[in-house]
Amino acid sequence: MPVDVQVVGGGVIGLSCAWDLSRNGHGVRVVAPLAGHDGASWVAAGMLAPVTEAQFGESALTDLLVEGARRWPPFARALEESAGRSVGYETAGTVAVALDASDRASLDDLLAYQRALGLEAVRRGPSECRDLVPALSPAVRGGIEVPGDHAVDNRALLTALVQSCRLAGVEFVAGTVRALEPGPVIALHDGRRLGSAHVLLAAGTGLPGIAGLEGAGLPDIRPVKGHIVRLGPPEAARGGGVPLVGRTVRGLVRGRSVYLVPRRDGSLVVGATVEERVDTAVQAGAVHELLCDARAIVPGIDELSLLETSTGFRPATPDNMPRIGWTALDGVAVATGHYRNGILLAPLTAAAVVDLIDRRPVPPAVRALAPA
Ligand SMILES: Cc1cc2nc3c(=O)[nH]c(=O)nc-3n(C[C@H](O)[C@H](O)[C@H](O)COP(=O)(O)OP(=O)(O)OC[C@H]3O[C@@H](n4cnc5c(N)ncnc54)[C@H](O)[C@@H]3O)c2cc1C
Repeated sequence: MPVDVQVVGGGVIGLSCAWDLSRNGHGVRVVAPLAGHDGASWVAAGMLAPVTEAQFGESALTDLLVEGARRWPPFARALEESAGRSVGYETAGTVAVALDASDRASLDDLLAYQRALGLEAVRRGPSECRDLVPALSPAVRGGIEVPGDHAVDNRALLTALVQSCRLAGVEFVAGTVRALEPGPVIALHDGRRLGSAHVLLAAGTGLPGIAGLEGAGLPDIRPVKGHIVRLGPPEAARGGGVPLVGRTVRGLVRGRSVYLVPRRDGSLVVGATVEERVDTAVQAGAVHELLCDARAIVPGIDELSLLETSTGFRPATPDNMPRIGWTALDGVAVATGHYRNGILLAPLTAAAVVDLIDRRPVPPAVRALAPA
């Protein structure tokens, strides 16, 4: 099929859009250096957490996240069916716990805010929390149970997306886009120039590095660094081990946030720092802080192996809302700026991009997100 849409970027946003476009009858080409194996999407924890991500003063974003979460079950089912493999979609829910009295007070404030927004969250005492997650420390002062905050294995998701794209006939070009030219034509660093009726810019924090976007009406995209740690059972038990916790645990530990997200292979993702800095270094201090906070609420992590420490960059806009829509350049659309919730928002973003390319109205939740 001739290519009518070129997608710049092979993270969760670019790949979800590419797959959805191809299963809706479009000829799609993805241009990225390492599609499905890099970017924030590879590093992320994979929480699908509209409730525990709700922040004071961001009710518009929360509404968007709730709609994003609503799209996940059918998306996961269709993707698993098409790829013939699991994406590790977990619906056991989330428990957010507090370590000391002041953390408990902060969680109670957050609970009141969540309830005021109509979100489902239930206050739980210390022993109720331990019934839900037996591995919790006896020091935990109670918390909140959030049944609707789910999780997905982001790496299994990316693998399934690449596979489904290939099966649907999506063409992959390994390369980095240097510039966008009128046409629209994308110019690669190696000199290749590729044209198509439409281009979708989904390059995450790589977007500002692409020339020719002056006048497109795009916001500044800033990278927000996150350290993350992956732990696992000792080598002998790896691959089928029972995770230390059976659901996502989020903690407030003397005012600092930490989370532990279990995977089906027995491993545990511990994250994440939120830092306004651009260096890629994995810093000992950040890893130390994450592990200290995680072991304060789940001491059993001491017995696990350290599998990986990494950093990633969340693509953020000045107002922390994504941008999804047509730019001011002919035939050029954008889907980026998903900041802390790109995995959660991928199915909704993909559906909106299909609507855009097919010249239909986008879902109401996304209407206000078009670039200025
Ligand atoms: C530590 C951490 C934890 C997170 N946890 C969660 C979570 O639990 N839940 C959640 O929903 N979100 C989470 N996020 C946020 C989420 O990862 C991002 O919002 C999401 O991955 C953004 O996806 P993306 O495809 O826009 O960008 P990316 O995944 O960064 O992908 C960008 C792609 O564009 C490519 N690219 C860049 N420049 C160019 C160029 N010039 N030419 C061609 N290709 C280019 C890159 O190579 C890459 O393939 C987390 C992020 C971090 C860093």
